[in-house]
Amino acid sequence: MKSAIVTCLFLISLPIAAAADMTVTTEFPGGSAEVKVVDANSGFIHITPEVRAERGWPCWWYIRVDGAVAGQSLSLKVTAGQSEFRPGRVLNAAWSQPDRAAVSVDNVAWTQTSTCHKADGVATYTIDAPASTFWMAWGPPFLPSHADEVLQFIKSRLSQSTVFELAVTRGGRTVRGIRIGGTGTEDARTYGVWVQARQHAWEAGSSWVGRGFAEWLTGDDPSAEKLRRIATIYYVPIMDVDNAAIGAGGKDAVPRDHNRDWDDNPHYPEVAAAQQRILELNAADRFDVFLDLHNPGGGERRPYFFGPFNLDALPAIQQQNHSRWLAVSREAITGPLPLEPQYKFATYVRTDEERNRMSANWVRNHTADHVLSTTLETVWNTPHSTQEGYRTVGAQLGLAVSRYLESNPRGR
Ligand SMILES: [Zn+2]
Repeated sequence: MKSAIVTCLFLISLPIAAAADMTVTTEFPGGSAEVKVVDANSGFIHITPEVRAERGWPCWWYIRVDGAVAGQSLSLKVTAGQSEFRPGRVLNAAWSQPDRAAVSVDNVAWTQTSTCHKADGVATYTIDAPASTFWMAWGPPFLPSHADEVLQFIKSRLSQSTVFELAVTRGGRTVRGIRIGGTGTEDARTYGVWVQARQHAWEAGSSWVGRGFAEWLTGDDPSAEKLRRIATIYYVPIMDVDNAAIGAGGKDAVPRDHNRDWDDNPHYPEVAAAQQRILELNAADRFDVFLDLHNPGGGERRPYFFGPFNLDALPAIQQQNHSRWLAVSREAITGPLPLEPQYKFATYVRTDEERNRMSANWVRNHTADHVLSTTLETVWNTPHSTQEGYRTVGAQLGLAVSRYLESNPRGR
């Protein structure tokens, strides 16, 4: 009660104009939300994720608040958009309501709010405004500018690496990646690794995992040095740059999303370009590991890999490699987000036709018997689903790749 009185006196002494000027905007890269209500005097904001026709799940949101009074108690109410993101489909509210939202005073470092209150489809996040201007988001954002930053960081640490343009998107944006290590057939490196994130734009956490992997790879850990010596690594921080840039969800986009686009006639130039490069590496006998980084449903509590549906029917060497991969990954991904000990299976994808259009399956179906092709789903709805938590998973993933390749997965 005492602190409530103190707070009241504090508020009374504030210039009223400051609070009355509070505004909420999404007019910045990646920003997204439909702002329903901003009540400066009561400190109340109501948003829904913006529904963008044909651009996939409306779950991501990312706002900037200006003109708040530092220390002022604010409530942010998040409800789901009610309109269809594609014909006949309205997204369940749970996807847009993490237990804890992300908050930042500089749009660079993000912390989590306390747990929100959920009732009747409404999530309410209560915070004390950390500054007059601050950002709130579904999770820590990872934009095309972050992708460029991490690529430049790698290049500055490893001068032999090469930033490349994978493709220009349908929206005219550049998808960049980096090749770390070898350059061609005369190179002594044996193995080839492809790591990509963000085929689903809302899954920003997957890009932070990729960044953690890449940062670890540039470092002094003997396992990282070894991996750089024995393998050429290709890393693409964001595949669906168009939707990441505008803060759209991407998943279940029209006509289909990036991770359902891996067939003989891809809709997205970046998917076609990734396929082409992977086929070339495979033809040159320089391909071993394909990792596609994602975030799963909000009820999951541990990161996990999707295994192949037909594991028992795969060539013996691939069965052996899947089992070795799981063993080294369990040893490496130990927490604060420890790996689920067994593979899960994407049984929600019903038909073989659709299953074969998923990237990890397409790669498996188009490359050598020994190739390990898999999807990592890193959980986003936990207290450790932060920049730091995701990057730690990424670093541990790097350790797993290094140990896995040490075990001679080609068997020859
Ligand atoms: Zn995904």
